[in-house]
Amino acid sequence: MYKISLITGDGIGPELSESAISVLNTINDKLDLKFDITKLSAGDKALSETGKALPDDTINAIKQSDACMKAPVGESAADVIVVLRRMLDLYANIRPAKSYPHMPALRDDIDMVIVRENTEDLYTGKEFSLGDSAVALRIISESASKRIAKYAFETAKQRNSKKKVTCVHKSNVMRVTDGLFAKACTEISKDYPEISFDQMYVDACAMNLIRQPQEFDVVVTTNLFGDILSDESSQVVGGLGMAPAANIGDTFALFEPVHGAAFDIAGQNIANPSSFLLSIKMMLDWLGTKHKDSKCLEVGQKLESTIFNLVKTGIKTKDIGGEYTTTDFTKQITDNL
Ligand code: ATP
Repeated sequence: MYKISLITGDGIGPELSESAISVLNTINDKLDLKFDITKLSAGDKALSETGKALPDDTINAIKQSDACMKAPVGESAADVIVVLRRMLDLYANIRPAKSYPHMPALRDDIDMVIVRENTEDLYTGKEFSLGDSAVALRIISESASKRIAKYAFETAKQRNSKKKVTCVHKSNVMRVTDGLFAKACTEISKDYPEISFDQMYVDACAMNLIRQPQEFDVVVTTNLFGDILSDESSQVVGGLGMAPAANIGDTFALFEPVHGAAFDIAGQNIANPSSFLLSIKMMLDWLGTKHKDSKCLEVGQKLESTIFNLVKTGIKTKDIGGEYTTTDFTKQITDNL
């Protein structure tokens, strides 16, 4: 039995959470793997109800669980996810982008993953006013850069792919901070002679994600660049509705969609739950590897193939060219699992 904490979120978060609960309950009933789900509040609604975007009870329940699923939260996202990433030292943000058949993707041969440093850069919130200026501190450390570089090379080693790591930065302008990041990645690359290594400025990377996305394998980059590039890579393979993410530390992990709360479509039953359901797949992979539980890996594979077989036969939500509602698409998944 795995204890799963679930932040239900804001905007389309509650709809995605209901979809995730139905899928996890179906796995409980049909696939011989047990999850005990605890629903938790955090985000805009929690802030207005309790005065805290990340209530203490939520933090305690997350710490007592085996893994956390987090639906998107709204305006208070920085007070929830950025805090959790740092508090739980979830230093690696993993954002895969893979083209699947019958998707509005740029090409059908894209299979890449962005490994984004998750604990520092401009996200440490060290901003202040100074005279007529506003100042933000960009913190990049050698230890965090080497740690994420190692994670990226290990990811490239395990992937059945091109065995390539591309370090993305802007060291021609930010010579000290990105200079340090590039140097740390270069040093780590020497421990992995079997993986090819190259470097790219972030602007060139943004262009190449459109021009030749099939050339990428593992991209390792700093926090803010990783956030921006992963929205782009998601769109390149069909859109945010299909984009999952994992925040991974040495002992704990949190899974969430790449996208935000999408208030423009909230409450309409049209959101694509695949981003959150593919995050469950990432959670199953992580639990399976951590606990040497092959059942988790098998069910994760089954969940992913169920989603993509449906999409392939035209059973899809509106954002990727279909007509299915969130609840009807979820029902198709639970019926087919
Ligand atoms: P944030 O800055 O919090 O990441 P954002 O400004 O990037 O948020 P999102 O909420 O991530 O905005 O979404 C951008 C747009 O993509 C939404 O307005 C919505 O139309 C679409 N979108 C995002 N997620 C989904 C989804 N699961 N299903 C369908 N459409 C989605």
